[in-house]
Amino acid sequence: MKNNFLERIKRLAEKKLRNPLSRRSFVKGLALTLGLATVAKPKAAEALSFDEFFQKHYKELSPADKERIFARIEKETREKRGVEVKISDPPPMDGVEFAYCLNLSKCIGCRKCVYACVKENNQSRDPQIQYIKVLEMTKGSMDVDKGTQYYDHDTVPQKDKFYMPIACHQCHDAPCVKVCPVEATWKEKDGIVVIDYNWCIGCRYCEAACPYEARRFNFGTPTIPSEEINPDQGYLSNRLRPRGVMEKCHFCLHRTRIGKYPACLEACPTGSRKFGNILDPNSEVRAVIQNKRVYVLKEELNTHPHFYYFFD
Ligand code: SF4
Ligand code: SF4
Repeated sequence: MKNNFLERIKRLAEKKLRNPLSRRSFVKGLALTLGLATVAKPKAAEALSFDEFFQKHYKELSPADKERIFARIEKETREKRGVEVKISDPPPMDGVEFAYCLNLSKCIGCRKCVYACVKENNQSRDPQIQYIKVLEMTKGSMDVDKGTQYYDHDTVPQKDKFYMPIACHQCHDAPCVKVCPVEATWKEKDGIVVIDYNWCIGCRYCEAACPYEARRFNFGTPTIPSEEINPDQGYLSNRLRPRGVMEKCHFCLHRTRIGKYPACLEACPTGSRKFGNILDPNSEVRAVIQNKRVYVLKEELNTHPHFYYFFD
């Protein structure tokens, strides 16, 4: 609805100016007119094809649109990076709502999950963008504001410390979704909050709204050596992102929607991580939630995360 409204206003503005506007520069101008806060440099500054400029919102794409867009991305990656990639778009499965559980008694703070995530999800290497941050916390305290993510010891775990990895909690009532002015981010029926990288205007409202500091912004074009590009790419997950858009954990949806585990879980050497379908009474996550004392971060904010912490 909001998108139709914006498109209508854009057409009127174009008519008035007798000059075609990119959707992003138009929305940026609109945001400034409305007195909204800092809007990042739009992706329009990058050389975008006509097709990409006028691409519809993901939710409006037909199967034929998707086929054409995926082929375009695969071709661009072949030409620009010399890498053959495959873009997939697995939909949410019926009767599935994903949840993550993390055993704080077992996590040793080795950060193997962090680096597996960077590799799997084609995150920028320089500067390195990480979706997961691991906080070192003092035993006896659950105050995340007192934890540090910048610990650098020769060995982990440290005596008297415990470790708390944090990424996107895929909130049921997600503040990031509520504040996005162009509906570039939304919640899917399997509980995963996704981002349309082509629709994001980089205003960073969602980043400011997220109470878990889970969103990352591409200030520069992400750098990844061609030989390190993961060719198994999901349109709404780990495909290569442009400069000026938001990104974050998406529960590795290109893997989990086809029955695999997220990369962070597979990399964890201690078995701290449990992932699965909360609607399945026989799933591990359901057993954890029913039988352990689980804890959600910042419960008082009523974001209702799909991410649970527990101790043995
Ligand atoms: S953790 Fe942050 S980015 Fe993730 S759904 Fe919640 S508000 Fe949005
Ligand atoms: S890989 Fe496992 S043990 Fe290591 S920091 Fe991540 S969750 Fe903790």
